[in-house]
Amino acid sequence: QKLTKDEVRTMVKDENIRFLRVMFTDLLGTIKSVDLPVSQLDKLMDNKIMFDGSSIDGFVRIEESDMYLYPDMSTWLVFPWGAEHGKVARVICSVHMTDGTPFEGDPRNNLKRVLQDMQKMGFKDFNIGPEPEFFLFKTDADGNTTTNVNDKENYFDMEPADVGEDCRRDIVLALEKMGFDVEAAHHEVAPGQHEVDFKYADALEAADNIQTFKLIVKTIAKKYGLHATFMPKPLSGINGSGMHLNMSLFDKDGHNAFYDENDEKQLSQTAYHFLGGLMKHARSYTAICNPIVNSYKRLVPGYEAPVYVAWSTSNRSPLIRIPSDRGMGTRLELRSADPSANPYLAIAAVLEAGLDGLRNQLPPIHEVDENIYKMTSAERDKKDIRNLPDTLHNALKSLAEDDVINGSMGAHIYHSFMEAKTREYDAYRQHVSDWERQRYMDQY
Ligand code: GLN
Ligand code: MG
Ligand code: MG
Ligand code: MG
Repeated sequence: QKLTKDEVRTMVKDENIRFLRVMFTDLLGTIKSVDLPVSQLDKLMDNKIMFDGSSIDGFVRIEESDMYLYPDMSTWLVFPWGAEHGKVARVICSVHMTDGTPFEGDPRNNLKRVLQDMQKMGFKDFNIGPEPEFFLFKTDADGNTTTNVNDKENYFDMEPADVGEDCRRDIVLALEKMGFDVEAAHHEVAPGQHEVDFKYADALEAADNIQTFKLIVKTIAKKYGLHATFMPKPLSGINGSGMHLNMSLFDKDGHNAFYDENDEKQLSQTAYHFLGGLMKHARSYTAICNPIVNSYKRLVPGYEAPVYVAWSTSNRSPLIRIPSDRGMGTRLELRSADPSANPYLAIAAVLEAGLDGLRNQLPPIHEVDENIYKMTSAERDKKDIRNLPDTLHNALKSLAEDDVINGSMGAHIYHSFMEAKTREYDAYRQHVSDWERQRYMDQY
């Protein structure tokens, strides 16, 4: 619900809000925020807050660096801490040029653009229910992050509460105080690993929520002397962290467009075509949903992360699972995405893939109900089951060849993304690691 300017002013007074945390997201998904003293409230609401765009990754060069932050007042939330010095409210902004036009390099503006295309096709909302996973690591006496976790627990375990559990509960309480709808929070399979699921929301709100969520998790973990990381595969040999995306399209009447009670699987033609698009473009949106070198250490067999491009209603090994809920809860669950993804870009990319499926009535190929990990590569070939890209390098190659998916970013973002990611991969490729020395130093 959007507050009027006067309502905001009243709230600021009544709640003793002293700082405004003005947030936006750069190309790489990093949250940028500026704290403004509350005296700047009117200036903010009048779209007059300026910043230097050339100091933000993937934005603009120095010559054209003045940019403006336009607050989206529907994102106004009060953080549940900091009461001693007065409270802090957050508001998410979109980035605009000096002439007032939306900056096309702002990932949030870009998502809005793709959502408008969707609306022109007759849908109201693209709903996203994210399931972000993360690790809590201990910090040492100097405050540096270690690779030690502070529990030996496992999926859904109920042990006497330890620091990690307390911390996770505190996170959930903070989220609820801020008005988040948390559906579940549990320990994950790996020691020190947790998951918090929120109720689905429209794409833009869901992406905003993911960003705020990361901030909350990191802030609260710190209070417990822990470091929270959303790095996809912090430790080899145990599960990594994914961010499953549950998606559904709602039509203008608020019905779930993926549901059809008369179909054998109770899925609509819209769902099948959308799925067809997700299958066709899987390798290329992987570059956006799994955008860092480390993402590809998670997408390997044996750790509940997908490796093959396939879908199933029963099995959790493929890229896309269709959970058994029907009616309003009918959805497709993309299991590859990880929390290092820029949520605005990832959601725009999978939406564009699905819309391409609808536009071209793509068939939902690659349904596989057996456990794909148990199939031989000859069996997979026979069923035409492709692999997801095995490195960032190969994912970027697929992205470059796919104009539908690179188009989901718009030209400005695509160009900056390719440049940044190519540099990142090159730096990695040139680094000689401990693994190599251990393996080769004596042998050769
Ligand atoms: N952590 C697993 C992954 O990497 C998912 C585990 C689960 O949610 N069942 O995707
Ligand atoms: Mg889950
Ligand atoms: Mg999970
Ligand atoms: Mg899941």
